[in-house]
Amino acid sequence: MSKRGFRERLAAGETIVIAEGYLFEFERRGYVRAGCFVPEVVLEFPEQLRALHEEFVHAGSDVVEAYTYYGHRAKLRVVGREDELETLNFKALDIAKEVADKHGKLLAGGISNTTIFNRHDPKTIEEARSIFKEQIEWAVTRDVDFIIGETFPDFAEALLALECIKEYGKVPAVITFCSTETNMTHDGVPIPEACRKLEEAGADVVGVNCSRGPVTMMPLVKEIKKVCKGPVAMLPVVYSTTDKEPTMQALTIPGKGKPAFPVDLPGVACTRTEIKEFAEEAKALGIQYIGLCCGNASHYMRILADVYGKDPPANKFSPNMDQHYSFGDDKHRNDYYNDLFETKLKDNKAK
Ligand SMILES: [Zn+2]
Repeated sequence: MSKRGFRERLAAGETIVIAEGYLFEFERRGYVRAGCFVPEVVLEFPEQLRALHEEFVHAGSDVVEAYTYYGHRAKLRVVGREDELETLNFKALDIAKEVADKHGKLLAGGISNTTIFNRHDPKTIEEARSIFKEQIEWAVTRDVDFIIGETFPDFAEALLALECIKEYGKVPAVITFCSTETNMTHDGVPIPEACRKLEEAGADVVGVNCSRGPVTMMPLVKEIKKVCKGPVAMLPVVYSTTDKEPTMQALTIPGKGKPAFPVDLPGVACTRTEIKEFAEEAKALGIQYIGLCCGNASHYMRILADVYGKDPPANKFSPNMDQHYSFGDDKHRNDYYNDLFETKLKDNKAK
């Protein structure tokens, strides 16, 4: 299936919807360990990875991102599998490419914060460079349409990632910062300013992903939008963060006061309606590159893609409570069950 290029689509003002959040979804399903968060599913259960890519495409993702997030040398070392690094990366790229090609979707390579970067220590900067270089060089052998560099806490590490994508990959770059509680990068640059600098340095898309939920990420994205000229990326986590608890790491379980991160986050998950409202606001704001990060699942993706006008295949099975035997419309409701539920959904039909 032929497809138009990433830059061409952005230049034409098209929106790009992207499913992320593989890490948390596989952790939830029992294929990735919380803590180290290494994508071992790629090596051990490749069919599960293929199936989740298919599921996200079905739900409307325009992009298949190779699941190489935290599949880098420093992270593989944590679980003693550094010797499988190359195998993991090629397997992730090949599976993503297969699904992307099959459906005519964009294929993205992925790099991320290295977790070993320390701007005061030149040795770690060089190590980060070599981590980026090898993952980028592997990705471009599979003809990725662009490379995503994501969840960077430091401006310096994000800039290094961008430089590496340009130097070793020569493909379009999407760079997103981790949306911290302070609105600042770890090395003290206001995130909107950091985004503007990366745009000037040649990033095709800049923005934020992870940590903040839709409600608390939106004000930050509005500030980014004010200072950037090009496409802005917004990929919140799918949790109901608040002004008091603006990130998923800060969230507590309602009524208990205990931290929800990471394993109890489902207790503070966004509703589908909240995701719909977020998508509508982002679209109205002109957010051109939109997605969902940790906590994402295909039922959320379908709503986001639908609001963005993608008419995902999964819409075939979007909710229609008219057909319900007790809550449905006159044609479908069986009046024998009228007294089954005291609560009626007449004014609250799921759409
Ligand atoms: Zn995330």
